[in-house]
Amino acid sequence: MSERTFVMIKPDGVGRRLIGDCVQRLEKRGLKLVAVKMRILSREMAERHYGEHEGKPYYEPLLTFITSGPVVLMVWEGVDAIAQVRKMIGATNAFQADTGTIRSDWAMSNRYNLVHASDAQDTARREMDIYFDEHELVTYSMPDEHWLK
Ligand code: ADP
Ligand code: MG
Repeated sequence: MSERTFVMIKPDGVGRRLIGDCVQRLEKRGLKLVAVKMRILSREMAERHYGEHEGKPYYEPLLTFITSGPVVLMVWEGVDAIAQVRKMIGATNAFQADTGTIRSDWAMSNRYNLVHASDAQDTARREMDIYFDEHELVTYSMPDEHWLK
């Protein structure tokens, strides 16, 4: 079933000039970009996004990191998009991520791991709502969609 997932290129991904590479992987796989914008997150937005991690030892450094520079906020659409994109970014800790994933190929850190992607339907909805108004999500068809389901 086609679904939408929220993906963020974190400040290290922008700073290490990996926006194009990350987008290219998702695009070439067959996912469809339906929304994109760039922001420097406020502390309030970052707390809203990562609220479930409050109290963890890495929480404050995570907020400092995620608000430290621009991020790219995107919504991607495709069949089983949430699970498929999670597989493509790899495990949280880049040292443990499978080879061929974004985190394994381009990161060497547990914190600075380049990208965020939603992990379930309810988190995808919640995260899209933090960053996008409904009218910013573009509904359109692609000429190759016949081969991507
Ligand atoms: P994921 O981004 O893979 O969904 P989590 O939701 O567990 O991972 O954590 C959110 C983010 O917090 C991670 O992507 C990473 O940047 C940071 N983080 C998580 N665990 C740690 C840790 N043990 N040490 C440092 N940073 C961490
Ligand atoms: Mg997570």
